[in-house]
Amino acid sequence: MKLLSVIVPCYNEEENIRDFYDELFRNTSFFEEKEIEVEVIYVDDGSTDKTVQEIRKLHGEDARVHLLSFSRNFGKEAAIYAGLQKSRGDLVVMMDADLQDPPSLLPEMCGYIEQGYDSVATRRVTRKGEPPVRSFFARMFYRLMNKISKTEIVDGARDYRLMTRQVVDAILAMTEYNRFTKGIFGWVGYETKWLEYENIERKKGETKWSFWKLFVYSLEGITAFSTVPLTIAAVLGALFCVLAFGIIVFTIVRTLIFGDPTSGWPSLVCIIMMVSGVQLFCLGIVGQYLSKTYMEVKNRPIYLVKEDF
Ligand code: UDP
Ligand code: MG
Repeated sequence: MKLLSVIVPCYNEEENIRDFYDELFRNTSFFEEKEIEVEVIYVDDGSTDKTVQEIRKLHGEDARVHLLSFSRNFGKEAAIYAGLQKSRGDLVVMMDADLQDPPSLLPEMCGYIEQGYDSVATRRVTRKGEPPVRSFFARMFYRLMNKISKTEIVDGARDYRLMTRQVVDAILAMTEYNRFTKGIFGWVGYETKWLEYENIERKKGETKWSFWKLFVYSLEGITAFSTVPLTIAAVLGALFCVLAFGIIVFTIVRTLIFGDPTSGWPSLVCIIMMVSGVQLFCLGIVGQYLSKTYMEVKNRPIYLVKEDF
């Protein structure tokens, strides 16, 4: 008998808890056929609605349902990490509670693991149902990210992944505080099979990601998996030095030939404004990395548990 752990991060998903459970166990013949035992771990990420009550009710009906609840909202990345820590399965899969990750793909995914893959990941090939502006920025982000980072980050990759215990342990060994999961999966490597499917819109409730939250998250991804922005700061500094040297030589030569008519106050202001702008920009980049380092050094726990069964 093999154990499959299903990790479901939930944040205010009261309407989806039972639907997800029903959908997961709608077709149990596959699990029976392959002799796979299932445990469902709902990780409640500090929900303020009836999510926890719903999960408790389910646990009363079916002992395979487990709950790990946080003391407050720590974010999906923390929920995934907590779920992985709690999981005991030989195989572990992560799925969203909103049924955007169809459980009907599970048999196919298990098939690939049997073929010898270490993990089976999914990506959506369309972004239908998403605001065009968001799709545009998402595409730009992935293009940029893959240019500046050695870690491969796949466009449209979802967190819907089936992994062997070996991969789970590798991910758990990455104890960083700033958890950019998409990058972490790429970083650990292992042989990954990619499955593609059309985007499915969420069943009930609404997305927890505003445009601003996504923007901040993308910055987190960049600082967590690339140091190219720091290089940009250094290169800009060097460029400005060369430029300044050229201008100094030019000014000296011009003064020697034409004398010094003492003009040029407006252009001087422009130059000062621009150079100080560039300086602040570079300082900001350094600040980003410093703040991330600061958070890592504090070594705070990634999440705090309120309830666990
Ligand atoms: N989620 C979470 N903590 C958060 C935000 C989201 O655990 O702070 C969960 C949410 O309940 C869902 C999954 O992460 O199961 C994906 O969230 P959502 O559907 O809002 O994101 P989207 O699919 O729109 O990217
Ligand atoms: Mg969703």
